[in-house]
Amino acid sequence: MSTVPTIKLNDGASIPQLGFGVFQIDPDDTANAVKTALDIGYRHIDTAEMYQNEAGVGQGIRDAGVDRADVFVTSKLNNGFHEPDDARRAFDETLAKLQFDYVDLFLIHWPLPTLYDGDFVSTWRTLEEFKRDGRARSIGVSNFQIAHLERLANETETVPAVNQIEVHPYFTNDEVRAYGQQHGIVTEAWSPIAQGKVLDDPVIVKIAEAAGKSPAQVVLRWHVQRGDVVFPKSVTRKRIEENFALFDFELSGADVSALTALDKGEAGRTGPNPDEFDYIPD
Ligand code: NDP
Repeated sequence: MSTVPTIKLNDGASIPQLGFGVFQIDPDDTANAVKTALDIGYRHIDTAEMYQNEAGVGQGIRDAGVDRADVFVTSKLNNGFHEPDDARRAFDETLAKLQFDYVDLFLIHWPLPTLYDGDFVSTWRTLEEFKRDGRARSIGVSNFQIAHLERLANETETVPAVNQIEVHPYFTNDEVRAYGQQHGIVTEAWSPIAQGKVLDDPVIVKIAEAAGKSPAQVVLRWHVQRGDVVFPKSVTRKRIEENFALFDFELSGADVSALTALDKGEAGRTGPNPDEFDYIPD
């Protein structure tokens, strides 16, 4: 029995608004972390080929004894595989590692506008194939800027179901979020607590003390009230539990505004700028 609300995607599917992220979880520890999250009640796991732990995600779901159909599983196409035939092979591999015959959501991890002659459109068309054949129930993008989303809108048939982007109080990314809202693209906020960097901010600590909640809970609740999807990562059971307990309190409008006002613009990014990022893992 989950208290987590679901959000409707533009293709009719529903996604749990709170999930569990597995970036930087050691492949050998992933099954255990995922099982812990599922035992606590999470039903949404966010992984990627780049994280090298898809096998552990599938194993953790099986170990937890939860029906595959009851868990929303996302993975992402790695940067080296944007050309259509490579993307097809990489997607087969993702499913093989998970040992599932479908994912709920498959994303282009980064747009890489400086690579592949700037062509992420044929990559997107390949994801459309995966959706048509039912092996990706929904498809979306990650780290897409407005110009990238506009290109897909002008040149392809399918509006991405989600755009997974960096969002936290030091980098609110509100222009890209607003574009998503206007075009039916759900925003997923990655590094929702900025990998811990926002947790000792005095504004956040004060609001947390007044609410009787932890700073992480306050920041995650801020995301929830802004309508974004979040999947905080932790390998610490107590924190995994804490991050799940977001639905028995509410922030005031003034508190939400105070967190939003912490935005530092571009200087607040913890990750790379998607317009420039061109990393291809070995
Ligand atoms: P998060 O913002 O989720 O922060 C994770 C860090 O915060 C870990 O060091 C964790 O420590 C710590 N932490 C977690 N919960 C608490 C808590 N309650 N109190 C104090 N510290 C806490 O960072 P991520 O970068 O992992 O982002 C979340 C997910 O977003 C990723 O796992 C991935 O799924 C996705 N992501 C996607 C990207 C993309 O390009 N699409 C890029 C980056 C992330 P510990 O584990 O030691 O407990």
